[in-house]
Amino acid sequence: MAIASAPLDIARIRADFPILARTVHGKPLVYLDNAASAQMPACVIERVARYQREEHANVHRGVHTLSHEATTAYEDARETVRSFLNIPTLRETIFTRGTTEAMNLVAHSFGRTFMQAGDIVLLSAMEHHANIVPWQLLREERGIEIRVIPMDDRGVLDLEAYERLLEGPVKLVGVAHVSNALGTINPVAEMTRMAHARGIPVLVDGAQAVPHLAVDVQALGCDFYAFSGHKLGGPTGSGALYGKASWLEQMRPYMGGGDMIVSVRFEETVFNDLPYRFEAGTPAIAPQIGLAEAIRYLRSVGLDRAAAHEHALLERATELVGALPGVRLIGTAPEKASVLSFVMRGVHPHDVGSLLDEEGIAVRVGHHCAQPVMERFGVPATIRASFAYYNTLEEVEALARGLRGVQEVFGL
Ligand code: PMP
Repeated sequence: MAIASAPLDIARIRADFPILARTVHGKPLVYLDNAASAQMPACVIERVARYQREEHANVHRGVHTLSHEATTAYEDARETVRSFLNIPTLRETIFTRGTTEAMNLVAHSFGRTFMQAGDIVLLSAMEHHANIVPWQLLREERGIEIRVIPMDDRGVLDLEAYERLLEGPVKLVGVAHVSNALGTINPVAEMTRMAHARGIPVLVDGAQAVPHLAVDVQALGCDFYAFSGHKLGGPTGSGALYGKASWLEQMRPYMGGGDMIVSVRFEETVFNDLPYRFEAGTPAIAPQIGLAEAIRYLRSVGLDRAAAHEHALLERATELVGALPGVRLIGTAPEKASVLSFVMRGVHPHDVGSLLDEEGIAVRVGHHCAQPVMERFGVPATIRASFAYYNTLEEVEALARGLRGVQEVFGL
């Protein structure tokens, strides 16, 4: 596609994001914390506001006009998410408040339906806590085991070890598509093929992938795929889980309440059809409608063009930051997206974060909800700069200058 290969007009794109025009401590904001949460274009803010001003009512319940309008907008949003990830059917497109809720849904519903004491869930060494802790809760309840796919010093998963680990009584593989702490893009299609060769289903945490890669769940072949809307310019409280109907139909819901039922008697309840069976209670209507708008916006930018620009930012940042004295990059896999994690000799990451903030530069410091990754690399925390398509090369240079300034403050 000719349009997709044309470079982005970053100035025009930035004008769509009101927050990017603000200052912090009197300096222009340099927002490099996109992996934690991306900023929202005005069209998303306005779409949510219009819904709240003109269309709000509860969904699926009323016969009145507003309820119809809210239901139509909410269900249209589901269709937008479905087509965005190439999910085969709307029945397999479950709205959740984000990745964390989706992972808990799989751990509790899939886990309680299919896993017994001694069964194994195989997780990668670079999982976010959202794909670790729900399994630990299930372990306490059921006596399941958690085994870990190791990674090398670059942050690349060891697929030979994975192959061997698949030999056990593994009931599910859980893997991040892109690591939030390291930036590694994992070969999830290949990992899914390897698991499926043994009849084992695969859950993919797509929180950091969906904003940066064109994701097609059918091409990946995975059984479950989760993401959060706020990482791609949608509101917090939005997100979805793709699940293959063949699994979802057998899974016991883990949350009960309104909307997920057909009939309730004290003696017995009949559950609703998919996807509603897994959407108990009044859903996050406005956030999901906002998410659909964010997806439309991202598509108008073009994911391929966005990814190419982000890649250029990451390469330049790796070069500039990697060249600073005493910097150790954490996560040097050949296939990476958006994330530059590092530590600096002689300065605690929190001090780096605070000093950069004084320059208007927002980065993340800490364990990034991936403490096992920190342990693997022998660091308590890292500094993480993460890029979105609205970031510029000048911002990357500002980061490098800011870091040099921090080193000077510390006499390094
Ligand atoms: N998985 C990964 C890889 C993430 O980066 C995040 C967000 N930091 C999550 C899961 C959790 O997402 P949320 O907090 O939006 O549920």
